[in-house]
Amino acid sequence: MLKKHLAGLLAAACIATPFTVIAHEHGEAAVARSFIKDIQAVEGTYAKEHGATFFQELAKGQHPRATVVTCSDSRVHTNMLDQSPEGDLFMIRDIGNQIATAKGSVEYGINHLGSSLLIIIGHSRCGAIAAASGDYSSLEPAIKKELDTITIKKGIASIDGVKANVNNQVAAAMEEYEEAVKEGHLLIVGAVYDFADDMKQGAGKLNLVNVNGQTDAAKMQAELTRKDIADETDAVNHKHH
Ligand SMILES: [Zn+2]
Repeated sequence: MLKKHLAGLLAAACIATPFTVIAHEHGEAAVARSFIKDIQAVEGTYAKEHGATFFQELAKGQHPRATVVTCSDSRVHTNMLDQSPEGDLFMIRDIGNQIATAKGSVEYGINHLGSSLLIIIGHSRCGAIAAASGDYSSLEPAIKKELDTITIKKGIASIDGVKANVNNQVAAAMEEYEEAVKEGHLLIVGAVYDFADDMKQGAGKLNLVNVNGQTDAAKMQAELTRKDIADETDAVNHKHH
């Protein structure tokens, strides 16, 4: 086994593409060391690709358009929804994309950084959802605490559990930010990133499932095209400037 593993490491080292994922046993420090080597090998590439102006802009501050709550799952990343997420997405990630254990971070994104979009993104084949829909009483207390905030039916089908959880999270956020939504300062969206094509809409698609508490397609569309009081006030203000 070890021999096979070392061969794998050596093979990976010969491949030019960085961050090759090596099949590995649970928690092997050798994999971590190899990963750090990979990181060092491409050090500076990101900086070179982006250039000085890019970083000067970042240094000025952040005005993220969206506060994103998504799962920590390694298959889920910002580039599936935004090709240039720097400065644009205020990211909050935890197991099961739940708000309850990350309230302060969500509030910071909305109240202090001025995001007008709160988007909660679940994903297909979510381990947290699978755990929450079964018996997780033997898990570590800290993990249990986070899973306790995911209130879905026991035995629910995976993708249905993902959708139900997203809807629950949107409902919790709607309660918290009702005023901001009413006044047109905030849009709360629930979505499912479906890399497994469990929703039969195409693999890798980001499917909107909830907008401001609405789950019906026509009503979601109405929320997305709704003319807000805030828009009109802004329009008036812009005229005066
Ligand atoms: Zn997940």
